Amino acid sequence: MIRVLDSFIADKIAAGEVIERPVSAVKELVENSIDAGASSIIVEIRGGGKSYIRVTDDGCGIPADEAETAFLRHATSKISSITDLDAIGSLGFRGEALASISAVSRLTLVTKTAEANSGLKLVLHGGRVISNEKTGANQGTTIIAEDLFYNTPARRKFMKSDAREASAIIELIQQFAVYYAGIRFMMINNGQTVFTTKGDGDVLAVLDTLYPEMHAYKLIAVDGDGVRGYVSDPGSTRTSRKGQLFFVNGRLVDSAVIERGLNEGYGGRIFSGFPSAVLFIDSDPHDIDVNIHPGKREIRFLRQDEVRESIREAVNRSVMTDRGVPEAIVRKPEPPAVSVHAGSEIAEAVVKPSAAVETASEQTSIRDFLSRLDRDTDRKVPQDEPAVRYPEHVAEEATEYTAVSSATVSVSGPDIPKPFDFDELVFKGYVFDTYIIMQGRDTLYIFDQHAAHERIFYEKFMAGYKESSHIPQPILTPFTLNVSADVYLTGRDRLDALRNMGYDIEDFGDRCFIVRGIPEYMNAAEADGFVRGFMDDASDVQGDNQAVIDKLIMRSCKSAVKANDRLSEREIHELMTGLSACENPYSCPHGRPTFIKVSSYDIERSFRRR
Ligand code: ADP
Ligand code: MG
Repeated sequence: MIRVLDSFIADKIAAGEVIERPVSAVKELVENSIDAGASSIIVEIRGGGKSYIRVTDDGCGIPADEAETAFLRHATSKISSITDLDAIGSLGFRGEALASISAVSRLTLVTKTAEANSGLKLVLHGGRVISNEKTGANQGTTIIAEDLFYNTPARRKFMKSDAREASAIIELIQQFAVYYAGIRFMMINNGQTVFTTKGDGDVLAVLDTLYPEMHAYKLIAVDGDGVRGYVSDPGSTRTSRKGQLFFVNGRLVDSAVIERGLNEGYGGRIFSGFPSAVLFIDSDPHDIDVNIHPGKREIRFLRQDEVRESIREAVNRSVMTDRGVPEAIVRKPEPPAVSVHAGSEIAEAVVKPSAAVETASEQTSIRDFLSRLDRDTDRKVPQDEPAVRYPEHVAEEATEYTAVSSATVSVSGPDIPKPFDFDELVFKGYVFDTYIIMQGRDTLYIFDQHAAHERIFYEKFMAGYKESSHIPQPILTPFTLNVSADVYLTGRDRLDALRNMGYDIEDFGDRCFIVRGIPEYMNAAEADGFVRGFMDDASDVQGDNQAVIDKLIMRSCKSAVKANDRLSEREIHELMTGLSACENPYSCPHGRPTFIKVSSYDIERSFRRR
């Protein structure tokens, strides 16, 4: 017999699709709080969120006569017509979360709007209303979900250990706290405060509190076309992508396009590892497709190249500056001013509150915390007039859910850095026959003559390679290269590549090559060093396609630069002029820095004058 499923059974089945784990429930609840215009959100969990989840906000609240409706499937105040779907500005829109969470838990809702005289307490078990009564409450909403999946044992089996589930939830709240730096977050796990953020909009302060490994105060501000945020200098990389947070229109996303734009922004200056980056990207909602992944982490841009290019451009402009020059003195990070190191790398998250929790009061009871919020005067949602009104006029007001737009994120902290100015430098000295000392306004710079030479040669080579006629310039005395048998074999395959560059080179027989002409864009010494380096490498680098040739060229540039040469002051001047004319004067072709810096501040500190 075909039957229409009892709606409670249907909800239980559907719930599993929206709510897979405790962290998915927490995500939905926090997103609702953000959509409700909250300025403060408390997340409390016990047993990894399996036994207890509480999310309390000071948002607009739910009108008493609509509270039960909110738990019906497809009940939403955020969209009213099909056209709205194209330009969703709020985080939630499917109207499924509350229905799903209540279907698989014992749920308590306490809510009060600004207009209401009293609050409302609604209890549902497995989606069925158990009680609905008046109660005293502050403005805002608290949802407590207990015993998640108590009525769907199969789903319960898929959950990981309490520690793993807790870790996932804490990581999620950290990410929310970064993006919504204007919202105060408090995270409590098994009765202990894991972290609190101030909610004063200072992104760097939040990063410093939550991600100490990022060294927030050393990050460089980025401000470009639809892209804002912070990136690390090219020398401060990490071994994983853990230090990379990308937000598109408020959603934390994974995107190869953004990763590529970021890397290209460094212009080959990353020697190894991954830079840290927190990027807030604004995109027309019509230009993105967030639905390719059910968890909505993966994102697809319809104008990939534009997005990649604006990220590359913005990052490049910030990194190719004095701020992007690596520091000679590796400073110990200052101890964070506020609370706890619940980094995303908490091992089997036995999340201990740090000893450094801000103040004693920060650890006091939730009631204190809540009453403090009550006293807070610059709340986003004034008591008498909620910024977002449910449910009337939602279609017209859809644009009011601007909490999701990165327009609300203020990139504070250091100013957007200015391009590096070589003209400001004054020559101060030359040490170890290698390092050139220059003085800027309040910073000392140390240049590595070899890395600098290599960069200059490389750019000269690339320009010459592209633009020259590739007709060799004959040399008066041809020179020969005697090589070992293996190099002779592989080298013969590479002669055409060298001829393309403008060499007149031939197999001279008996493990010997002869050079009769050199590229017009090299001098004799450079041409000699380059071709020797090229042949030397030839047996190590397999294949002879363009990528292999490029690699050989890159490596051979090093050989073209004479080593351990004491430079005259005139040569130093020429070197600096050459370097300043480079497109990327900051690193050698292999990503090593061409110069580093020591600020006068650091010198003074070392002498204990500060
Ligand atoms: P959606 O967020 O997709 O609209 P939900 O099931 O998450 O669907 O929520 C249903 C409705 O309940 C929301 O549209 C909103 O009107 C209301 N709501 C849920 N949580 C809150 C909250 N914390 N504060 C105010 N209103 C809320
Ligand atoms: Mg929602």
